[in-house]
Amino acid sequence: MPNQNSTPVTTTLGTPPARRRMTARRRRIAAARNLRELGSIASALASTSHPYMAHIVPIRRCNLACTYCNEFDDVSTPTPISGGEPLLHPELDDVIRAIRSTGAIAGMITNGYFLMPDRIERLNKAGLDHMQISIDNVMPDEVSKKSLKVLDKKLQMLAEYADFHVNINSVVGGGIPNPEDALTISKRALELGFSSTIGIIHDGSGQLKPLNERERAVWDEVRRLTRRSYSRFNHFQEAIANGQPNDWRCRAGSRYLYVDENGIVSYCSQQRGYPGIPIAEYTKEIVEREFLTEKSCAPNCTISCVHQVSYIDHWRAPQTSSITPGGAGHGSEGLVQLH
Ligand code: SF4
Ligand code: SF4
Repeated sequence: MPNQNSTPVTTTLGTPPARRRMTARRRRIAAARNLRELGSIASALASTSHPYMAHIVPIRRCNLACTYCNEFDDVSTPTPISGGEPLLHPELDDVIRAIRSTGAIAGMITNGYFLMPDRIERLNKAGLDHMQISIDNVMPDEVSKKSLKVLDKKLQMLAEYADFHVNINSVVGGGIPNPEDALTISKRALELGFSSTIGIIHDGSGQLKPLNERERAVWDEVRRLTRRSYSRFNHFQEAIANGQPNDWRCRAGSRYLYVDENGIVSYCSQQRGYPGIPIAEYTKEIVEREFLTEKSCAPNCTISCVHQVSYIDHWRAPQTSSITPGGAGHGSEGLVQLH
């Protein structure tokens, strides 16, 4: 691994830096976004009876087929509202506008393949707040084609045209053969003026997989480079990297909703079908019940976005019922009271 202290930040692809310019307009947009985010945190602290994040899957179809992914198909048609690839949805901009019209923050996770200057401008106009692109490797291989080599041009377009915040997520684990690629990807993201995070690819059930020595070294180095993004969640991430269970309260089904392409609410991408209730029938009472329901998969869970959302309430409201998603009696009638 190269010595990060003595070498300038450069990409192995030899592309000259095209760092994102923070114009006065972009600074204004960022300041307004930060204010709205502070408001949403204040509202979450004030009441536990409403969701904080809804993860909407507008289409399950994807143009790629990453081997570790269990969230896509190649046949589904888009549904009116609602992972596949959201940029394949013809009315994505309307979905973003609808989200913004409710006062919510609109974020999108994409593989980036369909980004072009005019598409980015349309996302600006629709009011997108955040975009995350996961890049798995430097060169495409049989595991993943979400590669820096393919996507670097798209990143440069984003640096030039995007008014929204951009985060580049690199990964280790999950059969990615060159963990060192994550370091190259993170360095390139920072060089272009984006934020960068690193994740551990979960297994097919979203559960824990300890890092090997090479993966661990890269993980530590990327986290050192991108320290700001991790400071609050170090403990959770640290345990995952070590293959150790976490002691936390999963508030999925309450603070976090996974709404699939058929409008069905699940706990998360790895517990699809539980509780499996249509969004139109998802009442405040269900939100309140799930808030207080312990999920048996929590100790070995690696779904960091749910952990981050749940962190808001980590200091209050111990859970009083428990459930084993996928286990016997997973419906509300099968809840087990905790003593
Ligand atoms: S990880 Fe993303 S890009 Fe890859 S197949 Fe799944 S949905 Fe598509
Ligand atoms: S603990 Fe929560 S987020 Fe993690 S797999 Fe279980 S239901 Fe999903």
